[in-house]
Amino acid sequence: MAVVGLDMGNFSSYIGVARAGGVEIIANEYSDRLTPTYVTFDKSTRVVGQASKAMEVTNPKNTICNFKRLIGRRYQDLFVQQEKDLNTYSIFEGKGGSVNIEVNYLNERKRFTPEQVAAIMFGKLKHITSSESTSKAIDCVIGVPCFYTDTERRAMLEAAHIAGWNCLRLINETTAVALCYGIYKGDLPEQTEKPRLVAFVDMGHTALQASIVALNKGKLKMIATAFDLSLGGRDFDRVIMDAMREDFRKRYKIDAYSTVKAKLRLRAECEKAKKAMSSNVQPMPISLESFIDEKDVTGKMSRAEFEELAKPLLDRIRSTLMSLLKEAKTNWEDVESVEIVGGSTRIPAVKQIVQEVFRKSPMTTMNSDESVARGCTLMCA
Ligand code: ATP
Repeated sequence: MAVVGLDMGNFSSYIGVARAGGVEIIANEYSDRLTPTYVTFDKSTRVVGQASKAMEVTNPKNTICNFKRLIGRRYQDLFVQQEKDLNTYSIFEGKGGSVNIEVNYLNERKRFTPEQVAAIMFGKLKHITSSESTSKAIDCVIGVPCFYTDTERRAMLEAAHIAGWNCLRLINETTAVALCYGIYKGDLPEQTEKPRLVAFVDMGHTALQASIVALNKGKLKMIATAFDLSLGGRDFDRVIMDAMREDFRKRYKIDAYSTVKAKLRLRAECEKAKKAMSSNVQPMPISLESFIDEKDVTGKMSRAEFEELAKPLLDRIRSTLMSLLKEAKTNWEDVESVEIVGGSTRIPAVKQIVQEVFRKSPMTTMNSDESVARGCTLMCA
């Protein structure tokens, strides 16, 4: 029976399967390899993935994302309290201090734990897997952030179990990425030789994880990891959103955060502009038709302005990478190469910081989005 590798990120999920000596990433019903990690509870149905993400603006209170950050946590955690402000759905204290997400589902107020929501997402990934392949794969390896505690790991296993997966193993996302790199690198030193030190920097939607790994042929040793639990693409979106809010307040006399829907529409436009700024230096437009008070509004931001506003976030990346080198008791000269993965490492200023710290150009040897799923698959192949 085939074993699959699962990467359920806070923003995007990928499924890998070992085939013909390599790894294939399975496409969903839209022929897309990326399935958004979104679950919507609606009046008459439950919607998951792409269709759920599309409903975020029209049904914001019942569309759940970023729930992977709530798994295995206590309601009183500062971390959970921060998530309450960052998401549009309602988070309450449940039995024994647990976290509950309250939604309107089938015309009733209902509460779900983050594990139950994750189980629904895992169920979707199972459905995609079984629709695509003839074998009924239920064995899997799942990637988890390197900073996950034992409780969070247990909760993740529980969620996968509820969905009917048999999780053979959880592996740290940092390990999965290094494994994905090591397996395909044909020129690694022999086991009797000095290992090659490689740094990996992974920044997704909500967090930054970095590692330094010693690699020989068929051998991988994790030397050090460093992370910033709350630094990812959504924080960069917020920088653009805050600037646009201020701009619209002055020029149009409106508050772009006055309704949840307006804020979500602004966020979607700012994320689009952020991505466009990764490949364009000229100012990118941020336009919203019939926005608040039916006003058509338009603003713009250039890459230089964005980088200036995002400086505090960029400084945090630098200090995380510096502490990685310290933790590894090594310096930049000993690190032979640096690999970047995760959607947010496409931001040119992020690449620039990686280059500054390690004094070498960051490489994109691996698929930036799929390396965790590929590494998980290779773990069990
Ligand atoms: P997490 O690591 O928090 O679980 P994830 O692994 O699901 O999240 P990714 O899919 O790696 O996250 O990255 C998603 C983030 O990358 C989003 O914030 C998205 O806006 C950002 N992103 C994707 N492409 C680009 C780009 N070209 N330029 C800038 N940011 C980008």
